[in-house]
Amino acid sequence: MNPNLIAEFEAILNGKYILTDEEAKAPYLTDWRKRYTGKALAVLLPANTSEVAAIVKVCAASNIAIIPQGGHTGFCGGATPDSSGKQIIINLKRMNQVRELDVANQTISLEAGCILQSIQEKAAEQGFLFPLSLGAEGSCMIGGNLATNAGGTNVLRYGNTRDLCLGLELVTAQGEIWNGMKGLRKDNTGYDLRDLFIGSEGTLGIITAAVMKLYPLPISQWTTLVATQDIGSTISLLNLFQKRATSLLTGFEMMTKESLALNQKHFPHMANPLKGNPPYTILIELSDHESEAHVKLLLETILEEAFDARLISDAVIASNLSQANSFWHMREHITLAQAEEGANLKHDITIPLSALDSFITETDRLIQTQYPGARIINFGHLGDGNLHYNIAPPPGIDFKAFNLVNEKPIHELVYKEVERCKGSISAEHGVGQLKLEGLRAHKGEVAHDLMKAIKKALDPQNILNPHKVISI
Ligand SMILES: Cc1cc2nc3c(=O)[nH]c(=O)nc-3n(C[C@H](O)[C@H](O)[C@H](O)COP(=O)(O)OP(=O)(O)OC[C@H]3O[C@@H](n4cnc5c(N)ncnc54)[C@H](O)[C@@H]3O)c2cc1C
Repeated sequence: MNPNLIAEFEAILNGKYILTDEEAKAPYLTDWRKRYTGKALAVLLPANTSEVAAIVKVCAASNIAIIPQGGHTGFCGGATPDSSGKQIIINLKRMNQVRELDVANQTISLEAGCILQSIQEKAAEQGFLFPLSLGAEGSCMIGGNLATNAGGTNVLRYGNTRDLCLGLELVTAQGEIWNGMKGLRKDNTGYDLRDLFIGSEGTLGIITAAVMKLYPLPISQWTTLVATQDIGSTISLLNLFQKRATSLLTGFEMMTKESLALNQKHFPHMANPLKGNPPYTILIELSDHESEAHVKLLLETILEEAFDARLISDAVIASNLSQANSFWHMREHITLAQAEEGANLKHDITIPLSALDSFITETDRLIQTQYPGARIINFGHLGDGNLHYNIAPPPGIDFKAFNLVNEKPIHELVYKEVERCKGSISAEHGVGQLKLEGLRAHKGEVAHDLMKAIKKALDPQNILNPHKVISI
């Protein structure tokens, strides 16, 4: 290894912002789920794109692997180094400046280390909505959101991170800077490089800045919780809302009885306001630029129709913003309740809406038959067909012992059902190191080989996040 490596990094970072002692590095080495812990030669904290480029050039010359890192909230171990101690982490948190908020173009240009929540706040100050929203928004960063093509709760109306991005700036594996910071809604000039890098999880380039779309801030928002008895009527309810509310429908989230029971156990103040613990609790949100009264009337009319058609058995409309927020907190706390409970076997999957009933009915049946007593914690962004279909051991059984024996066969069982229903094994969390192995079978030979060819062409030395997403 180059004996001057650390000195070269220090020179780029003015002697500061390079962490080499074990205690300082520790917070950057374990993923949010505490599933992966690695080692790193150093953690580097650059302040601008030129510093990132200079670091990558040094790494390319010395063949040092780089792990790009944002808020380190990813669920697939993508931002965690391996155990060799030879890789470096580039964490982008110091690159947190908003470069421009263009009111006329309705765009915001920002650096990769901006925290998602701070972007939402900055946009709101100017009367805009930045619609990307997810449970980790207080700590995840826009670079990480782009690198994972994050989804979240507003995909139904505004799309995922890819749909919100108009331009990128990034550093290539050779340390070159590509400036694609154009806020254009149309640009058909050959291959779409921006789309290639979005969702590439740090394996093709390091995102240093982006131009993101803004929307007018809605002035009226109504949130309701409704009870449904089965998944078939839940899909019919979704279709009813899609038909009647069209683009006003901004949220359709599903929580099963079991997932809310977990919430109740770990966060007892979060009681479900619906009577009698229904099998499915659905959070629905409508928002618009019309008057409050208009949206409320529309919501009440659709709910009445749903009651008449026996699609729902109970409903509570939030009477104010604080109650609406408490509904959303209920939904968002399921992930946290699971983390408190123990390491669930997680499946972040998408299924076409038309096959959801078949998927849930059959997969639930198979799990219950083959793993009696196992708890199915199923919740998710149902409007997008996205389920977080997670399995916990029967009450009283140790998580580690259960997972050790059952992890592989349970993943196989669930993913086999996903394939049967023509779904995806990763809806919004990405591949990272967690799903690396299953990717070839899922994507098919041709798609997998094309991905390999792209990786080889852009990063022939394999120094950008090696053995994540794809191995070459
Ligand atoms: C409580 C909770 C709720 C969540 N809810 C959702 C949800 O609803 N929807 C959803 O999609 N995800 C969700 N997530 C997962 C996670 O928050 C997202 O994947 C998020 O986009 C990751 O951002 P990050 O900044 O933390 O990235 P990291 O975890 O730091 O990195 C993720 C990946 O991106 C790469 N990367 C990071 N920054 C860059 C960069 N600048 N350039 C190139 N590559 C980079 C890393 O190498 C890694 O492969 C949730 C996580 C938690 C903890």
